[in-house]
Amino acid sequence: MIPMLQQRANAACASCKKGGLGWLRASQFAPGPTTSGPCTGINANIAPPGITARLQSSWGRNSPLLAAMVEAPAASDAPVAQTSDIIKQSVFMELKTSDESEQLLRIRHSCAHIMAMAVQRLYKGVQVTIGPWTDRGFFYDFHWPADSPITEKDLKKIKKEMAKIIKADLPFVREEVTSAEAEARIRAAGEPYKLEILQSILQRDASASITIYHIGEPAAAAASAAATAPADAQATAAPAKAPGGVKPWWDLCAGPHVSRTGDINPDAVELESIAGAYWRGDEKNAMLTRIYGTAWETPEQLKAYEQLKEEAAKRDHRKLGAELNLFSIQENSGGGLVYWHPNGAMVRHLVETFWKELHLSRGYQLVYSPHIAKADLWKTSGHLDFYKENMYEQMKVEDETYQLRPMNCPFHISVYKDGYYSYRDLPLRLAELGTVYRYERSGTMHGLFRVRGFTQDDAHIFCLPNQITSEIKGVLDLVEETLGTFGFHDYEVNLSTRPEKSVGDDAIWTAAEAALVDALGEKGWTYQVDAGGGAFYGPKIDIKIRDAIGRKWQCSTIQLDFNLPERFDMHYMDSSASKQRPIMIHRAIFGSMERFFGILIENYMGAFPLWLAPVQVRLLTVNDTVAAYARDVAAQMKHAGIRAEVVGEASIGKLIRNAEKAKTPVICVVGAKEAENNTLSVRLYGGKELGALPTQEVISRVVMASSTKSGKF
Ligand SMILES: [Zn+2]
Ligand SMILES: [Zn+2]
Repeated sequence: MIPMLQQRANAACASCKKGGLGWLRASQFAPGPTTSGPCTGINANIAPPGITARLQSSWGRNSPLLAAMVEAPAASDAPVAQTSDIIKQSVFMELKTSDESEQLLRIRHSCAHIMAMAVQRLYKGVQVTIGPWTDRGFFYDFHWPADSPITEKDLKKIKKEMAKIIKADLPFVREEVTSAEAEARIRAAGEPYKLEILQSILQRDASASITIYHIGEPAAAAASAAATAPADAQATAAPAKAPGGVKPWWDLCAGPHVSRTGDINPDAVELESIAGAYWRGDEKNAMLTRIYGTAWETPEQLKAYEQLKEEAAKRDHRKLGAELNLFSIQENSGGGLVYWHPNGAMVRHLVETFWKELHLSRGYQLVYSPHIAKADLWKTSGHLDFYKENMYEQMKVEDETYQLRPMNCPFHISVYKDGYYSYRDLPLRLAELGTVYRYERSGTMHGLFRVRGFTQDDAHIFCLPNQITSEIKGVLDLVEETLGTFGFHDYEVNLSTRPEKSVGDDAIWTAAEAALVDALGEKGWTYQVDAGGGAFYGPKIDIKIRDAIGRKWQCSTIQLDFNLPERFDMHYMDSSASKQRPIMIHRAIFGSMERFFGILIENYMGAFPLWLAPVQVRLLTVNDTVAAYARDVAAQMKHAGIRAEVVGEASIGKLIRNAEKAKTPVICVVGAKEAENNTLSVRLYGGKELGALPTQEVISRVVMASSTKSGKF
C-alpha cells in the first residue's frame, strides 16, 4: 500500500502540472456498450433500475430511498441478514474514493496542506515533507522535534487550528517559479526535506518548472520565505496578513486544490491517527511523524465513513482469522508468510477443488512447476531488468545461480516450449495454483492482503490472433461463474489500452484492443477505459468486486502479452507450415489465494456459507448418555462427505454460545428424545430454530448445499 501512496505523492508533488494519476484517469470514463452515460461509480447491477440517479441526490441514512430499499428485499423474501447488508452497502457505496471524485480529491489534497499549515502554526521546529491524498483521505509526513513528540491529544488541537484556517476562507494561489527561486525560498524557510524533493524533481527533469501553492495571497518573495517559520517567530518578518488574521503559507506542489479553504466543510474533516513512517519509505532514513486524516463533502458522508470503518473493523480478517483459528502469520518465523491452520486450510481446499474442477471443465489443463529456476530464465524473461526490486537475492546451487520465483509465467512458457504446436493445437490453456515469492518491505505488509509468499490462481493461454475475442470472452465467463459462486455479482471493469512506450506492432495492438472491446461487448458489461494505462507489452482488463459492505477489491486481471513470446522465441506452425508467434494471455481470477481468503473472511464476516464452512455441522450433546448416538450420526455425516463434529461436556446454553461464536452454520442439539426418534434439533447460525428433523433429512440437506455450492440449509 505504501509504495502506491508514494507513487501518488510523487505524481502530485513533482510539478508534472497534470496533477495526480488517479483523477485524470477517472475523468476519462468512456461509456460501455450498455451504459447510458458516464460511469457514476455505481454499477446498475446492484441497484434496482432507476435507483442509481436517485441515490445521488437523496443521500442520508433517513432518506425515503433507503427506507424503500429496506422494504424491498423483505418483500422478496430475502433472509434478514442479507437485508441489513443491502442497507449498509447502499449507504457505503456512496462513499467515493479520490479516484472516483475529483472534487473529493481536491478537498483531500487541500486538507493535507491545511493540516501542514496548522501544524507549523502550532508547533515550533516541525519540518514538512510530503502530504498526498489517499483513497479516503489524506496524510502528511512531518519531521517532528524529538524532544516534544506529538500525542493523540494534539490531533484535536490541530483540527481546531485547521477549522480556523478554513473559516478564514483563504484562496489557494498557484505560482510558477524558477528552480533557483524555489531553492532560495526553501532554504530561507529552513526545510531540508523540501530541498530534497526539489532536487529529485530536477534530477528527473533539469528544466522542470516548479509550482508552488500558497494558502492566502502570497506576499513578496522575502516575506513568504518567512511564512513557513512558526507563527510566533514571525513577528519581524510580518508578511501581509490575510483576512481573518491568518498569515499565508506555501508548499511545493502540482495541485490540484479547491479554490478557497472555505470550500471545505470543517465538519466533514477528521484527523484519524498518528503513525511513524520512514522518509521515502526507506528504513535507513529518518523516522517521520505521519498524521492521517479523512475529508468529505458533507458531515453526513463523514458519519457514514466512520460507520464503514466500524463495520470494517468488525470484519477485520486478522482479528477473525485468530478468533476462528483460520490462519496465522508469525513474526518469529518471518513476516508476510502465512500458516494456514486446519480451519483455513479446509476453506482453501474447497476453493481450490472448485477452481480446479471448473478449469478442467472449461478446457484448461493443470500443470505444476518448480518454485525456483536458474537466473538465466529471469534474464530471458526480462524480470531481472524491470522487476528486480520485488525479487529475492539469488542463491548458489553448485556452480549455478538460482532464483526464487516472483511469477509463474516463464514456467508455463517452458512447458509450452517443450512441445511442438501447429495452429490446430491452439488455444492451449495451462493453469496452476502457483506459489510465488515477492520482496515486500517489512512496513508494507498487511495481514493476508500483502504478504511475501502467496499462491496465484494463475493460467496462461497461448492462442492464435483470431482467437483472442473468444478466449477473452471465455475468461470473462469464467470470472463471472467463479466469483458469482462466492456471491460477488457486482463488478467494476476497467480496460487499459496502449501506452506511449510499447512493444509490438500497430496492427497487433489495434486488433487486440478491438478483440477486448468485442469480448466485453459480447458479455454486455459496462466498463471504463483507461486510455494509455496498459502495460508496455499489451492491453489488459481489470475487474474489481464489491463486498457485502460496498468496498471494492481488485481481483481478476486479464493481460495480453506481445513481449514474452518474442523474448522466449515461441512459435507454432500455421496452415502453410511457416513459423508464427502465438498470442499469450496471462490471467488470474482470485488474484491470490491468500488475499482472496482475506476478502472472503471480511465479506462473510467469518460466517462462511454452508458449502464452504470448515465445520458444517456441530452436534451438541445434552449429556453423556446420548454421546454414542451423536458419534454415530457424526460418522454417518462424515461418510456422506459432511464436515461434522461432536461437542459436549458443558451446559447446552454454553455449547450453543460456543457454536455461534465459531459461526458453525448448522447446530444440532442432541438429547434423549432425538436419540430415541433418530432426529436432530436443528438451529441455524444466527439463531433460527427449525425444530426436530429426521437425521437423514439433515444429512441430505447439507449434502445438497455442498453439491450446489449453496449457503442455504
Ligand atoms: Zn498540493
Ligand atoms: Zn503470467
